[in-house]
Amino acid sequence: MLRDYQQRTIDQLYAWFEAGHPGNPCLVLPTGSGKSHIVAALCKDALQNWPETVVLMLTHVKELIEQNAEKMRQHWPGAPMGIYSASIGKKQLGEPITFAGIQSIRTKAKQIGHVDLVIIDECHLVNHKDEGGYRQFLADLKAINPALRVIGLTATPYRLGHGLITDKPALFDDLIEPVSIEELIFKGYLATLRSKITKAKLDTSGVHKRGGEFIESELQAAVDTDDNNQKVVSEIIELAGERKAWLVFCTGVKHAHHVAEVLRQRGVAAECVTGETPKKERERLLAEFKTHSAKSFADLEKHGVEKSKPEHFVQIQLYMHGTDIDRALYVAVCKDDDRIYTERVKYDQAVAEKFIERGRRLALEDRMPPPISTDPSWYQCKFCDAHEFCHSTKTTKHVNCRTCAHSTAKEDSTWRCERHEADGIPVEFQRQACDSHVLHPDLVPWERKDGLDQWTAVYVIEGRDVANGEGDAHVYTSKEILANPKMCSLGDKLVEELRETFDARIVG
Ligand code: SF4
Repeated sequence: MLRDYQQRTIDQLYAWFEAGHPGNPCLVLPTGSGKSHIVAALCKDALQNWPETVVLMLTHVKELIEQNAEKMRQHWPGAPMGIYSASIGKKQLGEPITFAGIQSIRTKAKQIGHVDLVIIDECHLVNHKDEGGYRQFLADLKAINPALRVIGLTATPYRLGHGLITDKPALFDDLIEPVSIEELIFKGYLATLRSKITKAKLDTSGVHKRGGEFIESELQAAVDTDDNNQKVVSEIIELAGERKAWLVFCTGVKHAHHVAEVLRQRGVAAECVTGETPKKERERLLAEFKTHSAKSFADLEKHGVEKSKPEHFVQIQLYMHGTDIDRALYVAVCKDDDRIYTERVKYDQAVAEKFIERGRRLALEDRMPPPISTDPSWYQCKFCDAHEFCHSTKTTKHVNCRTCAHSTAKEDSTWRCERHEADGIPVEFQRQACDSHVLHPDLVPWERKDGLDQWTAVYVIEGRDVANGEGDAHVYTSKEILANPKMCSLGDKLVEELRETFDARIVG
């Protein structure tokens, strides 16, 4: 399933063609927006609507070819597709869709023959001038089919020294920009960018430029010194703190190796992956470790993780979905005798999306779902943190924004406060709550009646009405009610006088 802006991209592209524009459009999408999903959906749509279409998907590195081909298989299992790439070791021509590396295919136009549509990923690498491997290959294809159309994809349509990717004699004629980085951050698809001024300063004064960009070898020589690397790594550790994944931009391959080495010296697990890294080292695998009782272990051996431990299976699928890793190794240890069971688990997009949707529904629900079981001795309930709440007290112990009747969970993972008409309540503030907190009716066992106004609730405690909201002589705060509900329900004149005169509160 495509995200809204991914579908919008395809709609805008069709609209561009339908408007009768000649030439080649370039889709500009931020890094991390899921371009390969758009390519897959586009190819599938083209083939299903116009079965005679021949599509060639080009890029320059095998990782992108594999990634795009994999997304195609996910969107369309059984898609009529081939891969042509020497570095992948496949030379499959003749299918309606071919994922190819430009280096491998650029002299093969005659062998390929008629192509209707070429899609180029990272299309800013196509030469601005009418020269180079891409341009020659496209000219050869166009000689066979003059109606050939090219669609480019990039996150960087402007190149220093050349200008926009549509400035002639460039190949592309128009930019289609369906989504901005701001929208992706706002919708939670990208993390908020926070740039910090660094203490370490790198001196690039003697470095020359070529084509508007620093000459890489000179830049690397100026920047890649032990003193610089030590300073930079110290600052990275200081700034990155507890964050789990860091990405370090370096000036070249040697520099990347040196920075990774300094990180490791400081106790940070760091690897440098380049085009030279052997395939086996490059492939990433998710490993998940669990322990089992002897009975559970025997069941796992018999039925496998998906059937025997569906909760572990789903957990792994969600990790893979979030990290874009397509294989996992499930390792289970029998607690009774240390036997080990291993199973390879492949990514299943449909399962991951189904459970994400289920989580989404639960998170956005106004009311609490019913407990899994009404039997307190049910095995899943026995190990649940909410056991006491569901099967005994039915009363929350917490006063924070998430137990407040005025708050609402939002699609973008933030919380809204209706009382203060505020979106995005900061997390630190959510933990403290404010004086207007009203207990959510699903988190207390008492009957709720309408309050004096929309910001006050009335709970029937010990047979008496107790107003809950912003505290005064007659209205009790949530903290007071949870501290001593019985005292709040007494309606004692002396207590109310003390509350009125001294702003006193019940604390226990
Ligand atoms: S009323 Fe106060 S406690 Fe309740 S959601 Fe708003 S800010 Fe949080």
